[in-house]
Amino acid sequence: MSHLPLAGKTGVIFGVANKRSIAWAIASAWHKAGAKLIFNYQGERLKENVEELASSFGEDTLIFPCDVSSDTEIERFFGAVSEKTDKLDLLLHSVAFAPKEALNGGYVETTRQAFQTSLDISAYSLVGLTRAALPFMEKSGSGSIVTMSYLGAERVVPHYNVMGVAKAALEASVRYLANDLGAKKIRVNAISAGPMNTLAARGIGGFTDMLKHCESRAPLRRNVELEELGATGLFLATDGAAAITGQTLYVDSGFSVMAM
Ligand code: NAD
Repeated sequence: MSHLPLAGKTGVIFGVANKRSIAWAIASAWHKAGAKLIFNYQGERLKENVEELASSFGEDTLIFPCDVSSDTEIERFFGAVSEKTDKLDLLLHSVAFAPKEALNGGYVETTRQAFQTSLDISAYSLVGLTRAALPFMEKSGSGSIVTMSYLGAERVVPHYNVMGVAKAALEASVRYLANDLGAKKIRVNAISAGPMNTLAARGIGGFTDMLKHCESRAPLRRNVELEELGATGLFLATDGAAAITGQTLYVDSGFSVMAM
C-alpha cells in the first residue's frame, strides 16, 4: 500500500500560466503526494507552457482549454474530464484578473466594466467551477477545494483596488460554499498568500514595494516561498485538514498580524 497522502486521488488545477504560478507550486505538491492531475489552460497563448509543465508529470497528463469567464468553456472542460473520469477529489482555483488600469490610481476610478470583469473572473469563477465539479466530488464521496486570496480582501493595500473587493467576494464565497457542501464532505478553503513575484502580480502598481514592505515588516522578516504555498495547499487537501472548511489561512510570514 502506498504511503503517499493523495494516492488514488484525482484533481483539477485551474491557473497555471508558467513555473512561477502559485497553481504550479500547489500542483507540484499534490503530484508528489500521489494525486493524478488534470490542468486547464487559458487560451492558445498559454497552451504550450502548460503542456510542457504538465507533461513533466507524465506524458499522459491531460490539459484542456478553459476560460473561466465562459460557462460554455467550463461545461466543455468538465465534459472532457468526464470522458476520462467520473470522480474528482481535488479542485484548485488559482485564477484572478483585473484590467491593468484598475490596478493603478484610486479605487474610486473603477469603471463598471472593470468591476464586473474583475469580480466575474476572480470571484464568480470559484462558484461556477465548484458547481461543475460537484457531481464528480459527490461520486467520490468527499472533496477539497482550495482557492487563492490576498490580504487586500480586508485591508486597504494601495493599488490593489478592485482586486481587493473581488477577493472579499471570493472569501465570502468560500464560507457560503463551505456551508452548502459540508454535508457532502466537501471542504472549501482559501489560502491568503503574501506577495509573490508572478505574472499576475506584476500587473499591480508598486508591486516591488509590496514585496520589500512585507519583507521588512512581517514577523518572519522575509517573503513567502512558492514551495511553502505548495505545502499549505497539500495540507488542505489531506485528511490532516479534515475538520477545516470555510477558512482563509494566512501564509504570509505573519504580515497580517502587524498593525505597524
Ligand atoms: P499567475 O499569473 O501565475 O496565475 C494567474 C492565472 O489566472 C493564470 O494562469 C491565468 O491564465 C489565469 N486566468 C486569468 N484570467 C483567466 C480566465 N478568464 N480564465 C482562465 N484563467 C484565467 O499569478 P499567481 O500569482 O500565481 O495568481 C494565482 C492566484 O493567486 C490569483 O488568484 C492571485 O490573485 C492569487 N494571489 C497571488 C498573490 C501574488 O502576490 N502573486 C498573492 C496572493 C494571492
